[in-house]
Amino acid sequence: MSDVRIDDLPVRDELRGKSPYGAPQLDVPVRLNTNENPYPLPEALVERIAERVRDAARNLNRYPDRDAVELRTRLAEYLTKTSGYEVGLANVWAANGSNEVIQQLLQTFGGPGRTAIGFEPSYSMHGLISRGTGTGWISGPRGGDFTIDLAAAEKAIAEYRPDVVFITTPNNPTGNAVSRETVLALYEAAQAAKPSMVVVDEAYIEFSHGDSLLSLIEGRPNVVVSRTMSKAFGAAGLRLGYLAAHPAVVDAVQLVRLPYHLSAVTQATALAALEHTDTLLGYVEQLKLERDRLVEELRAIGYEVTESDANFVQFGRFEDAHEVWQKILDRGVLVRDNGVPGWLRVTAGTPAENDAFLDAVRELKKEQSA
Ligand SMILES: *Cc1c(COP(=O)(O)O)cnc(C)c1O
Repeated sequence: MSDVRIDDLPVRDELRGKSPYGAPQLDVPVRLNTNENPYPLPEALVERIAERVRDAARNLNRYPDRDAVELRTRLAEYLTKTSGYEVGLANVWAANGSNEVIQQLLQTFGGPGRTAIGFEPSYSMHGLISRGTGTGWISGPRGGDFTIDLAAAEKAIAEYRPDVVFITTPNNPTGNAVSRETVLALYEAAQAAKPSMVVVDEAYIEFSHGDSLLSLIEGRPNVVVSRTMSKAFGAAGLRLGYLAAHPAVVDAVQLVRLPYHLSAVTQATALAALEHTDTLLGYVEQLKLERDRLVEELRAIGYEVTESDANFVQFGRFEDAHEVWQKILDRGVLVRDNGVPGWLRVTAGTPAENDAFLDAVRELKKEQSA
């Protein structure tokens, strides 16, 4: 039975020898490894979800609203209210997590014979979904301090002339944001090379000290801003991501989306969560304070820390980051080794979880200097 492996099957060549995406899911007391929100949904929202899902259940014999009109309208209102830039139903598209949004974008604008670029280290799923959609992946450069080295990035764009450009801001796993000027310069460079789509992945924007780049879609049909309810809304289990762009982009992704891709249960749950935006954004404010505290305390302990506009912090430097990851785990705290040499990433948790993490790394530092 189990002697047949993936590579024994007639799988596509580019999938041979590859492993699936996944952070280790270990059962430890303090899990600060996947940038989840540590706060469970408030009970009032849980009740509202139950109510909305009960209503949806009465119609589960029917297909859901294929165009998710009510949900997209509410998402557009949320974007308008939080960014000050007005978008409407026609600008917004939603799918099962922003990963599916990205997949639909790559199916529409990438694919065989085309390429996408990201500036790494960055979100590894951009490369993996590119591969899954037959899009060639180009690993673009970042500077030594993990900011985008504009000259080097522009050179890579001019050389490879990608069809899709990913800019993650705030960036994962490094935490730092990309300035509006840099994004605009990359957009100009990309358009000069060939007409291409620029995808600004704002999965962590609610945690940022700065503003959303949503207004960049104004007059630029080749710019897409992608968002998710997995992080700020504390709803990673819901699987709801969305994009804002010119209405033509929303029309284009519908050429590849599966019919009825967003279940009635998902739509009902997301609508309930959007009714509780104020409470959920209150948690975000808490987490931003905790994130800033992590940065400060890690520096006080003597670690190097990358500026963070996200709900996590990259810290180092270590000769052997994986060994340090293991030692922190031995103390009951799971952080993330993203494979960035010399660095680890910790997600901002509850104050108690962050204290447990800080105690663990403080102990390690003492051990090292003893
Ligand atoms: C977590 C994350 C996402 C979210 O993906 P979902 O599919 O919405 O859960 C998207 N982009 C980046 C950079 C992320 O870190």
